[in-house]
Amino acid sequence: MSQQLSPEQLTALAKEFGTPLYVYHAEKIKEQYAKLAKAFSGSNVVFFYACKALTNVSVLKYIRSLGANVDCSSINEAKLALHAGFLPQQVLYTSNGIGFDEIEEAVKLGVNINIDSLSNLEKFGKKYGHNYPVGIRLRPNIMAGGNLKISTGHDKSKFGIPVDQLDKIIETVNRYSILITDLHIHTGSDIKDADVFVKGIEVLFDLIPHFKELRSVDLGGGFKVPYKKDDEEIDIDLLGKKVKEAFDSHPQARNLQIWFEPGKFLVSECGYFITQVNVMKETSATTFVSVNSGFNHLIRPMFYDSYHRIENISNPQGESKRYSVVGNICETDTFAWDRKLHEVREGDHLVFYNAGAYGFEMSSNFNSRLKPAEVMMKDGKPHLIRRRDNWDDLLKNQVEVIS
Ligand SMILES: *Cc1c(COP(=O)(O)O)cnc(C)c1O
Repeated sequence: MSQQLSPEQLTALAKEFGTPLYVYHAEKIKEQYAKLAKAFSGSNVVFFYACKALTNVSVLKYIRSLGANVDCSSINEAKLALHAGFLPQQVLYTSNGIGFDEIEEAVKLGVNINIDSLSNLEKFGKKYGHNYPVGIRLRPNIMAGGNLKISTGHDKSKFGIPVDQLDKIIETVNRYSILITDLHIHTGSDIKDADVFVKGIEVLFDLIPHFKELRSVDLGGGFKVPYKKDDEEIDIDLLGKKVKEAFDSHPQARNLQIWFEPGKFLVSECGYFITQVNVMKETSATTFVSVNSGFNHLIRPMFYDSYHRIENISNPQGESKRYSVVGNICETDTFAWDRKLHEVREGDHLVFYNAGAYGFEMSSNFNSRLKPAEVMMKDGKPHLIRRRDNWDDLLKNQVEVIS
């Protein structure tokens, strides 16, 4: 049975902690991690949780306790990971577009690093030569992912060093005798086709002979999870089988560690975002349901046109009707247009599902509204893991110069 929190549990949490509220169900993260571990049990695989999806320190600590490593997209994420108890060798910093000073800082922290530009590779070689192992983030020129905004491996993407610049990479590596131990690709998010990874593996396999000191090949993240009711999850067992076949049949790849960086796969479905209905508004076009939140708290629908399942947990037996669920931000702020919900009344609690990944993490104080609280449900008990913003938080960095 898949781990899930019930409407009754969510209602109780809304009452205890107030809304809007993010809730993360620890056992669901564990279930997802176990799926990965099982699917790849035949291969030499290490999972680095892509923590930009959700960096709450209690979540990081929990994921560490499951046995995962962690992948970071900024130096502060790397520091948060160390703060959460990961060892430097368990932390991977996959950089993009950053200044060399951050790479120097990452070296001081002793974490693994993937470099994503020739410019930084050159600087790295000059400073560290063969003294610090490093990976290269490549752009495989593969189109993959749910939509263009979340595709990162195609031939117009800013991410990684394009594989067609291999000559320049090799020239730089040789000039400074850089210790290249990892080759990395990450082609996008919401990938449901295992063959996308196989294609990436083929691109990487062609490169392996050029790097004699490789220890790992990093295939990134992007495993699709279901958002809609009949959505498919990536067939992780099939992927595990295909990856094993590919690596086993390649004499030089056989001894390499395989790295993955799952973000959404681990934390999307563990998350619930609970809101409360402020206002109902009948119009000729639609019936608006305005909740006490907006894209300041959950930006994915407005930013990516992404779909989040919504349920009225206060009236599960109510008649199904069509509504448009909107936020309270002074911008067009639509969570869902023309969506069937059980009859909605002012004061009802609406839950957004799949809110664990890129939910709280992308929230802001736009409209001078406060960021929500976060709660972790673990062993059937709720734990507040971030208190709600308060008035002082809005003012704390402001410097008042006009009297
Ligand atoms: C965002 C990101 C991931 C995780 O992507 P998901 O779709 O959340 O699995 C993995 N690796 C890198 C380098 C990323 O930037």
